[in-house]
This record gives sequence, C-alpha cells and structure tokens, in this order.
Amino acid sequence: MAIRKDEAIVLGRRRLQESSLIVDLFTRHAGRLRVVAKGARRTRSRFSGVLEPTTVVQVVYYEKETRDLQLLTQADLVESYSGLRESLLRLSYGYAIIESLIGMKREESGAETLFRLARETFREIDAAAEDRLEAVLWRFLLLALEDTGFKPELEQCLACGRVETADEMVFDSRAGGVLCRRHGAAGLALSLETREVLIECARGSADRSPSRGRVTAEGREAIRRFLVEHGLGRSPFRPLEDLIRS
Ligand SMILES: [Zn+2]
Repeated sequence: MAIRKDEAIVLGRRRLQESSLIVDLFTRHAGRLRVVAKGARRTRSRFSGVLEPTTVVQVVYYEKETRDLQLLTQADLVESYSGLRESLLRLSYGYAIIESLIGMKREESGAETLFRLARETFREIDAAAEDRLEAVLWRFLLLALEDTGFKPELEQCLACGRVETADEMVFDSRAGGVLCRRHGAAGLALSLETREVLIECARGSADRSPSRGRVTAEGREAIRRFLVEHGLGRSPFRPLEDLIRS
C-alpha cells in the first residue's frame, strides 16, 4: 500500500453506510479516482464542508492497486468558487464541466492538462459575465477535445477544402467536422454565426458567445454529436437542459 498526495477536483459523492461517503475525484496526476471518506457525514468530521462538487482539494490517500476504491485520509480546501455555488445558472455550467470530466475518462497520462483546463474554467464560471458562460463552456470542451487528439474541423470542408462564408456548411460528426453543401448532405446544418463562435472557442477565446438561442442549440448539438461519436461520453449539456426544464 502506498501513500499518495495529489490535487483533485471533487466531481460528486454519495452516502456509504451511516457516516461515510464515497467521493468521486478528478486528480491532477492520476485522473479519475474513487475514494472512501470515513466518517465524513459526521458533523465534526475533518472532511466537513470540503468535499463539495467543483471544489479543488489537496488530498492524501492510501492506494492499493488491486482495489477500485481507495482510502482518503486527508482533504484540505485549495480553492472553492462561491460565485459559482451561489447562482443556479453558474452552478449548472459548473456541473456541465463535471459531466465532461466524467465522460472524458482519462487515466494518469494526460490528466494534468484536463485538470488545469477545468480549474481555469471553474474560475471563469465563478466570475465571468453571464452572457459569456456559454463560450467559456464551449472553449473548455473544444480545447479538451484537442488535447485528446479529437479536434473537429470547423473551417474547411473536409472533402474539398472550401471555406464557405454563407450558411452553407453542415457538421458531420462521423467525418470529423464540417463539409460544404456539395459534400455533406446528411449532417447538421450550421449557421455562419454558430461556426464563427465555435472557431473562436476552439482558438482559445471565449469573448464571443452565441447571440441567439438557435446558435446555442446548433453549437451544443454539434459538440454533443462529436463527443458521442468519439466515445467521449454523455452530453455535458444535460445540467443546462435540466435548468431550463426546472
Ligand atoms: Zn466540399
């Protein structure tokens, strides 16, 4: 058994018996990790108030490689985002990041970039103007995809290399990006604005968010299809769709 120290984002937790919790973490060095926090549900537990979803914590745990569930011995708060937690809208964007981290299963190798990207994104969701939040989320998703090696082509037709400037391109998740009308008949039609916002986000800028509901819906659908096509999990937009329904 080895003692490990790491930084982690809390993804979620659930009860284990009367007083303990199973906590789902995304760690900087080991990727996804599930730990048991014994006694965490007691009022005077050393874990109390620390293991909230979206918080960043410093953890110490015992690792036994043959075991799927590790034992948490210490958790100290590194960063918590009060702005994110106090607004239902921001919290939903925070949960969209958590859904993505769960979907994009990443083991040790490659965890660190995703960890850093998620942490920077939580900081922005905590403080950015509300009308920028959608672009902040898209940027996270597109940069995370690029890091996994699955970057969608958003500018040129994958078949002929043409760049259309009117509302004439379709997104084909199987092909891996956009096609002109001549080459892509069956894909998802993307308006020029949707494509422009996606391109900006993929370049690392979150200054321009979709200005209309239709653009938001198209962009989300393109990203969702691409994630599903490449086996990167469920829809990260579910928390935002739940928010609209509630
Ligand atoms: Zn073409």
